[in-house]
Amino acid sequence: MKTDLTIHRRTILAGVAAWGTVTFLPYAARAETHASDVFPSQNGVVEVSPISHASFVLKTPFGVIFNDPVGDPSAYLGFPTPDLILITHEHGDHFNLGTLLAVVGPKTSLVTNPAVFAKLPAKLQAQATMIGNRETHETMGIGIEAIPVYNLTVGRRKFHPRGRDNGYILTVDGLRIYISGDTEDIPEMRALKDIDLAFVCMNLPFTMDAEAAASAVSEFKPTYCYPYHYRGRDNGTQDPTDFADAVGKSVDFKFGGWYEG
Ligand code: ZN
Ligand code: ZN
Repeated sequence: MKTDLTIHRRTILAGVAAWGTVTFLPYAARAETHASDVFPSQNGVVEVSPISHASFVLKTPFGVIFNDPVGDPSAYLGFPTPDLILITHEHGDHFNLGTLLAVVGPKTSLVTNPAVFAKLPAKLQAQATMIGNRETHETMGIGIEAIPVYNLTVGRRKFHPRGRDNGYILTVDGLRIYISGDTEDIPEMRALKDIDLAFVCMNLPFTMDAEAAASAVSEFKPTYCYPYHYRGRDNGTQDPTDFADAVGKSVDFKFGGWYEG
């Protein structure tokens, strides 16, 4: 199984290399406020559409995934009903029950951390699976692993205590996609292997600054990286170009336009 996946990955990365850094914008994406990026996977493409801050949509050959959908539900009108919704944790910039009820469909599956699962009404719990750190789940052929998420720095640990919240690694059509959730540059992030596409948070005081994010990403070296979740209260804004410049050319950065429009 491992060998198959390794071969699989080489094939995909060969495809990525052949495509270089060209960004394809399908017609639907051009019509949206936020431009999308498209990445080749084994049998098709994975299209990433940033919505705002920590919310984004992945269109994949195996279904449509919403990550941490919050905010005005009209932001999602241009997308199909999701097959899968991922929720990392309970903070309002990641979990909003009103948004969730507006975008969920009768056949949508949800995957959440246990604390969010406990906050869901019974109707949504019936569609949801909770997984804790290091636990895995598979749905629609998409592999999901919950990755630890927490603050390291004294004075910030109250924001994301160890063991409560999830980051995720998705394996979808051969692509390994890492969604950091709200975390600092923890050893579990630094130890990640074979990540094709990474969404990495910043902002203070809740997560980390650009320097810490760059240090971690330089260690696990995803092929592509989206800085996301980089604005916060007061002076909490971090500059995604500082992040990218500190990492250098070993990682291909995508910027996404998270706060436009
Ligand atoms: Zn948070
Ligand atoms: Zn957050």
